[in-house]
Amino acid sequence: MKEDSPKAIIIGGGPAGLMAAETIADRAPGVAVHVYDAMPSFGRKLLMAGRGGLNITHSEPFDAFLVRYGEAADWLEPALRAFGPKEVIAWAESLGQKTFIGSSGRVFPESFKASPLLRAWLRRLNEKSVALHTRHRWTGWDDTNALTFDTPEGEIRIAPDATVLALGGASWPRLGARGDWTGLLAAQGVDIRPFRPANCGFETVWSAHMRERFAGAPVKPVALTVAGNRLEGEFVVTASGVEGGAIYALSRLLRDEIERSGEATLRLDLAPDRSRERLVRDLSRPRGKASLANHLRKAAGISGVRAALLRECAAKEAFLSPETLADAIKALPLRLDKPSSMESAISVAGGIAQDALDGAMMLKALPGVFCAGEMLDWEAPTGGYLLTACLATGLRAGLGASRQLSPSISGSGDDPTGT
Ligand SMILES: Cc1cc2nc3c(=O)[nH]c(=O)nc-3n(C[C@H](O)[C@H](O)[C@H](O)COP(=O)(O)OP(=O)(O)OC[C@H]3O[C@@H](n4cnc5c(N)ncnc54)[C@H](O)[C@@H]3O)c2cc1C
Repeated sequence: MKEDSPKAIIIGGGPAGLMAAETIADRAPGVAVHVYDAMPSFGRKLLMAGRGGLNITHSEPFDAFLVRYGEAADWLEPALRAFGPKEVIAWAESLGQKTFIGSSGRVFPESFKASPLLRAWLRRLNEKSVALHTRHRWTGWDDTNALTFDTPEGEIRIAPDATVLALGGASWPRLGARGDWTGLLAAQGVDIRPFRPANCGFETVWSAHMRERFAGAPVKPVALTVAGNRLEGEFVVTASGVEGGAIYALSRLLRDEIERSGEATLRLDLAPDRSRERLVRDLSRPRGKASLANHLRKAAGISGVRAALLRECAAKEAFLSPETLADAIKALPLRLDKPSSMESAISVAGGIAQDALDGAMMLKALPGVFCAGEMLDWEAPTGGYLLTACLATGLRAGLGASRQLSPSISGSGDDPTGT
């Protein structure tokens, strides 16, 4: 690459930034593409995502898929139509990662892990002459509009021809995304919505017995209901509340309810496979000398952590008759006080407001600066929706930057400017 080649600077080496970098390398030959990350290595959150089985996307029909992005669905639709589930699968397979569809419709690489995929991706970027720089923390702009970075060798300044910011959200800050860029952009007139935890656990006040005996215990089978939405699944009791798949899936509704009314009540059905009538019949069986705990276990199959939850959350009067006990088992109120910390959430809501960006993901207040990934104001449940939108917005921001660098470039069927 010549010294005076136009320079594209991507800050943030997570999935959104790497996708933007690859897009520019493919679409704007002759442009020097550099990715900078504050951490000693790239894609740390992606690697963490692979710990529990990397769920890259979802196989449901596109219209159902799009609905998962809630209020941001219309805004994200062009990006997701250009790079949706099918494209994510093809991308993973192009990196040598065969995929499969799990029983819930979620899509995983066969290895389940992120590391082979990330390794192959970094290798491919290297072959495309994308320069990867670690331990470079972006700190803002100087008064000539050059980007400034803290590096182990001291501060450096770079004047780019196009910039893509893909700095992530604010959950799991030890993996790199600390959300500390918000002040830098707000100072430039960019509208930033406050971060809130998403796909997170919740806190409640447990008795010492519950905390000490049952922290870490999985609760299943169980069905959870909030605001008329019922979900069968499982969750885990923690020392200070609840977390796990079914809680994350309802976390947006729970968080919004807590923001509205100061608390949220989750209704637990501790016997999802028995009707109330059957429970009343079962619990009416003669108890003899059996303790209530034994009776509950034998007659209704409620024991262990589920019996503890019943004792913890049901009113005393619930234990007076089979009818009231069946009611409590079918709709046990669990009061939740607040979401668990942002640090422990899987993702965040909030970030750069949709109106702050044009159709190519360029900041209206900062022409030539494009943004992608979790730093934008959208949220989605777990299920592969997070990574898909990070990759899709990374592609779109990369296309926007490519066009800025080489206006003759076409978007290969997709017009990232949305015009
Ligand atoms: C435990 C866990 C499990 C998950 N599992 C899944 C899953 O199975 N499926 C799924 O779809 N999603 C999953 N996610 C979410 C997914 O990993 C994220 O949505 C995704 O990584 C966000 O991509 P991003 O590129 O926007 O940001 P990030 O991946 O957070 O990358 C941002 C990068 O920017 C760098 N950076 C930040 N500030 C600066 C700065 N000032 N200067 C230089 N560099 C900076 C950071 O070091 C980081 O490398 C999971 C997340 C967690 C925490």
